[in-house]
Amino acid sequence: MSNCIFCKIVAGEIPARKLYEDEDVLAFHDINPMARVHFMIIPKPHIDSLTDAAPEHQALLGKILLLAPRLAKEQGLDSGFKTLINTGRGGGQEVFHLHVHIFGGGPAVK
Ligand code: AMP
Ligand code: ZN
Repeated sequence: MSNCIFCKIVAGEIPARKLYEDEDVLAFHDINPMARVHFMIIPKPHIDSLTDAAPEHQALLGKILLLAPRLAKEQGLDSGFKTLINTGRGGGQEVFHLHVHIFGGGPAVK
């Protein structure tokens, strides 16, 4: 997806504060945090939204969810965290590359 901002982050074409990366997924801090800790985990392959996820993405989506508590703990969210997946315009999605928000730790420090 040549015009996708998250694909550009995956490709290293625009910078991001990465906190985890492997061959399948990437995690980076949200540029406009809603909480003291706010990052997202994305699949490296472009998937528009949860609506566009298909059976072949099952393992990838499972991997993202299993990674969430591990990365949350590494970011100091010991007592828990919130997850959010906005899907479609009606769901408040602004960036159409599937992403799972993970946040917590109290109000954002801006
Ligand atoms: P949404 O599509 O509504 O789930 O949210 C998109 C999120 O992406 C927002 O929280 C933005 O702050 C975040 N965002 C947009 N551009 C960037 C970027 N270049 N780096 C990090 N986060 C971003
Ligand atoms: Zn993309």
